[in-house]
Amino acid sequence: MNVPDHPEEPLDSWLYADERPDPTPPDRGRCRVRRAHARTALSPSGLEGFDWVLNPYHGCAHGCAYCYAPSVLGEDMEAWGRAVEARQNMPTVLSRELRRKERGVVGISSVTDPYQPAERRYQITRYCLERLARHDWPVCVLTKSDLVVRDTDVLGTISEVEVGFTITTTDEHQRRLMEPGAPPVARRLAAMRMLSDIDIPTYAFIGPIYPTASLNELREMVRRVHEAGARYVLVDRLNLKRGVWLSLLKALGPDPVLLSTARRRLFLEEARDVFYPRAIRAVEDEAMSLGLAVSRA
Ligand code: SF4
Repeated sequence: MNVPDHPEEPLDSWLYADERPDPTPPDRGRCRVRRAHARTALSPSGLEGFDWVLNPYHGCAHGCAYCYAPSVLGEDMEAWGRAVEARQNMPTVLSRELRRKERGVVGISSVTDPYQPAERRYQITRYCLERLARHDWPVCVLTKSDLVVRDTDVLGTISEVEVGFTITTTDEHQRRLMEPGAPPVARRLAAMRMLSDIDIPTYAFIGPIYPTASLNELREMVRRVHEAGARYVLVDRLNLKRGVWLSLLKALGPDPVLLSTARRRLFLEEARDVFYPRAIRAVEDEAMSLGLAVSRA
């Protein structure tokens, strides 16, 4: 198998027109992709439910304002979303590791999105899935992108597989501010429906709950993922890891009302200790009313 070899190039030059990162916030700039080599493919996981994690890319063009990955990786939050490394040799490294490491659940991914725009060209996630399918290892994908439907032919050959979609808002205005490089939530829901219809198990990660969310919006999200065929819901609050508040300040800056709500709910004690317990309870109650399993991440 030959992973396509491409010179470093601006992401915008090859993105499909409807997948160009949104122009908001206005100074987000461009995301560049360059080739890189991985020394390992499967890393031991500290995450519940995964034995291993596989990150085909370093960095993430989705550029979410609340992303914890820069804090985990010790990267500059300011620069997150502007540069991505495509680990082109990862499928080859993975093939070797699948022969000598202990079989376990592989989470794809933990500090990047495996179906960010670069995947359309580099197909590293797809080639890794092909190898995992050949060795029949259990796989759990988590993404914000409908590009995953491209790989239903491979996913359908893995005997233990599930695909999670991060669903964070029903409001496209807020999605543009908070997840400027990621596809609209409606497309994620359509992809979830598509995979569910062909019996590829799906779940929804409602998290992090935006500090600007309304309880009605959260209930609506649960109804939509239920309609789209999610088998269960994971829910999580937003945690202010290093650099996240500054990033939120910048992202929500164009909308002072949202920014003020976020500030109040994250920092004023009476609001902070009330909003998130209520928000999580709203998700749990709505899920339970629909017979949908729900747990906290
Ligand atoms: S999709 Fe995930 S990894 Fe990528 S920027 Fe958003 S939160 Fe971070």
